[in-house]
Amino acid sequence: MAGLVMPEPKADILARRAQIIADLRAIVPGEGVIDTETEMRPFESDGVTAYRQMPLTVVLPSTTEQVSQVLAYAHANGIPVVPRGAGTSLSGGALPLADGILLGMGKFNRILDIDFANRTVVAQPGVTNLGITTAVAHEGFYYAPDPSSQIACTIGGNVGENSGGVHCLKYGLTTNNVLGVEMVLITGEIIRIGGQHLDSGGLDLLGLIVGSEGLLGVVTEVTVRILKKPETARAVLMGFPSSEAAGACVAAIIAAGIIPGGMEMMDRMMIHASEAFVNVGYPLDVEALLIVELDGPEAEVNHLIERVGEIGNGLGCLTLRASTSEEERIAFWAGRKAAFPAVGRISPDYLCMDGTIPRKALPEVLSRMEQMSEKYGLRCGNVFHAGDGNLHPLICYDANKPGELEKAEAFGADILLLCVEVGGVLTGEHGVGVEKRDLMGSMFDETDLAHQQRLKCAFDPNSLLNPGKVFPQLHRCAELGRMHVSGGKLPFPDIPRF
Ligand SMILES: Cc1cc2nc3c(=O)[nH]c(=O)nc-3n(C[C@H](O)[C@H](O)[C@H](O)COP(=O)(O)OP(=O)(O)OC[C@H]3O[C@@H](n4cnc5c(N)ncnc54)[C@H](O)[C@@H]3O)c2cc1C
Repeated sequence: MAGLVMPEPKADILARRAQIIADLRAIVPGEGVIDTETEMRPFESDGVTAYRQMPLTVVLPSTTEQVSQVLAYAHANGIPVVPRGAGTSLSGGALPLADGILLGMGKFNRILDIDFANRTVVAQPGVTNLGITTAVAHEGFYYAPDPSSQIACTIGGNVGENSGGVHCLKYGLTTNNVLGVEMVLITGEIIRIGGQHLDSGGLDLLGLIVGSEGLLGVVTEVTVRILKKPETARAVLMGFPSSEAAGACVAAIIAAGIIPGGMEMMDRMMIHASEAFVNVGYPLDVEALLIVELDGPEAEVNHLIERVGEIGNGLGCLTLRASTSEEERIAFWAGRKAAFPAVGRISPDYLCMDGTIPRKALPEVLSRMEQMSEKYGLRCGNVFHAGDGNLHPLICYDANKPGELEKAEAFGADILLLCVEVGGVLTGEHGVGVEKRDLMGSMFDETDLAHQQRLKCAFDPNSLLNPGKVFPQLHRCAELGRMHVSGGKLPFPDIPRF
């Protein structure tokens, strides 16, 4: 694994492998424990295929009671556990550990309750994101957060990463659409947080769980809110002579008080790659393309389409096309949704980055990324959740050329540091995982990190759940109480210590 330092596997756990597998088989009988190399191979990586690691064993429980027993066993025996949904994480969140149990939640694939009156669905964590919408579509409802991976990724993984999608500008990320969870702690205790109501008493622990990347517990049930499908949705395609002009249009639309259902930007390289892949009629003679979707009552949508067109024309828009049918609207989105596989056709490998910037910083960030592209000698295309300021630069490289992966990783790290420098953050929706773990120090100082780590320790004092992810190495519960003494001098000697 290029440049990636993971916690050293514990020799005593590796030596006990046969006994551990036998004990786990007693908890999850039948085909629930996988231990052969061939059968474990599909679990060796997630969406970040550059990093691979065979786990100690794979366990596939199908009941909450089994999850509870597996975690209690891991806790009693000091064995790390990595939860996994569909394994589509783009930050290495589900990367296994050599001495750890990979806990696959794929068998938790049932919808438990649909309540149209309360507008909620209770789903097991292995249900796919799209599966929730499919289950309620017959009554005109849907689940709003729509990651491009929605056909495959699970609601449990969405909770882990606080995932987003093109419609999150108006309808919020996972955290704004999850109402409650059932979760198993590392001790095996089963807890419930939130429920089928809008708010719950006490501390906002739900906000803490969503986005916790499998570090605090294993989610075994998720309650989400569902929405009635808008009466109408129409999309506008607008081509601009520069990314700056397209960025100015995004800012002007928001400043006009319009919140589109989705607002995405693609640069020249991505427009060409996507068009060659799906042939939806994207303009090829522009530098930047905006897709703006308006949804709501028909009269309002038609009015807003006109307003957005006026704003675009006022800012030098070169081409403008509004969808006139549902098929055309879907076609407009097809290119954007296929952007990642489209890059797979023009480059043997690519790294998909995920950082967030204040919208006004877009022109500066794009031009500095171009300079970086020249410096590293690697192509970089951009798709962008423009309304949210969430960038997805796609860095093209060839893993077969020695040193190119390392170059691509360094390029990616520079982009994320730039996001922080201009007032943004390291991630928008893909999580920190292992990919951004070592950059956390660029955004948080030691005090911030120590406070975050204390929360982790309150749930999992022995760091058994997904260790090596999110926190830079050397941040372990046991080290929080330590003091670094330099040159024999105790820092802040007058402060009392207990
Ligand atoms: C082609 C492609 C497009 C993508 N597009 C988007 C996008 O538009 N927006 C977006 O946000 N993401 C996107 N992603 C990233 C990814 O799909 C999301 O992060 C998704 O939420 C991961 O879900 P998963 O089921 O695959 O989870 P996994 O990858 O298996 O796990 C993700 C994290 O959640 C934890 N986890 C999983 N299940 C549980 C559980 N039951 N309890 C506790 N922790 C758990 C894991 O430990 C890990 O840290 C994309 C990925 C790909 C490959």
